Amino acid sequence: MPAPPTSAGSRANRKRRLGNAAAAAGRAALEGSRRCELCGAAAARVRCEGCRLTYYCDVAHQKADWVSIHERICQLLIPIRMSVPFLLSEKERKHGTEQLVKRQKYIIDLAYSTAREFVWDGKHQEAIPAALHALRFSTEVYGSNSVQLVPAYLLLAEASTGVGRLPEASKYLSQAQWIVLTTPGCGTAVQCKLHRGLGLFCTAEGNFEQALYHLANDIYLASSTFGLKSVEASGGYFHMANVFFRQNKMDIANSLYAEVTDIWRAFLLKSVQAQERILESRPEMSPFAGDEEVGEDRMNRFTLRAAEAQRAEAIRVLSAVLDVREQAPKQRPGETAGVLHALAMLYYLTGDLPKAREAGLRAFHLLKPLPRQESLETIGHLLELINSQLSCSK
Ligand SMILES: [Zn+2]
Ligand SMILES: [Zn+2]
Repeated sequence: MPAPPTSAGSRANRKRRLGNAAAAAGRAALEGSRRCELCGAAAARVRCEGCRLTYYCDVAHQKADWVSIHERICQLLIPIRMSVPFLLSEKERKHGTEQLVKRQKYIIDLAYSTAREFVWDGKHQEAIPAALHALRFSTEVYGSNSVQLVPAYLLLAEASTGVGRLPEASKYLSQAQWIVLTTPGCGTAVQCKLHRGLGLFCTAEGNFEQALYHLANDIYLASSTFGLKSVEASGGYFHMANVFFRQNKMDIANSLYAEVTDIWRAFLLKSVQAQERILESRPEMSPFAGDEEVGEDRMNRFTLRAAEAQRAEAIRVLSAVLDVREQAPKQRPGETAGVLHALAMLYYLTGDLPKAREAGLRAFHLLKPLPRQESLETIGHLLELINSQLSCSK
């Protein structure tokens, strides 16, 4: 990753040129009003030489912002932060405002998804500046009490919890909770997210009883909207299982992990079958070419992002359940095979064929010695699909 452009050299030159006291005083007043992009402190002195519009207290803050998000939005900030000439006509001003909001929304989307990816990778520290940008721009576009701010608050809470700053996390969660409580007719998806956020925070605090209360709410809301066996509800089951696991209540943890696995396995099986039908109708195409065409024709960016998020969640959750299964003192080969089967389908759908085959083969060998396994045939069929794809791509 390239280093952020610094302003140290040019600042020194300017200093020498600015001989008279009046200019120096003016500059000091300006610098005093400049706030650090990262922490908001006044009198920020280090300027980003890429956009020349962003200031920081010091190089450390500049670097932290750069690796999190600024590298990606440095140039995008220029049209947003340059002041609009005042002599424009009303029509031009209206157009200018529309353009500005469009650009701000783009940055919100980019900053939010960047932060979320960092959180998923366990890089909580790196996530925070990007999540703060998502929050800042959301506030500018939607106002400070909008329900649109809730995802950013929850992400900030999760990242802050991840770096052990629980009081900050608690503050962000209160903000999110306040917005949800004061927004009439707030959507179920947002309410689920809030309860999940609160549940995760209470888990981190070690307040398991309260954590289970929030996660139960998450599951209740998700399953009454999306269905009892929906992937939307599976996240709540997964986090609840983790709480019981930490309490060493293994029976209930195991049955909840099994529930999570079953939900994903059923969902992925349907996706594989749908994929197969596409392949049968257009045998000359690779499975993923079919996907792309659908992507261009019918899906908008939002649904693509949602599908991406769902895929990432599936990988995270199923890998965690696999770890639990593999490290259990008492092995349950049937359960382990179930997780491996789900992962094999997931890798197949994302085009990672070698990984798909490895997981599929492991599931197959675990199930083979067991009595009465109807899923053995399904896995065998999946392996055939994977092998035929692999031989095509050679
Ligand atoms: Zn700072
Ligand atoms: Zn910049």
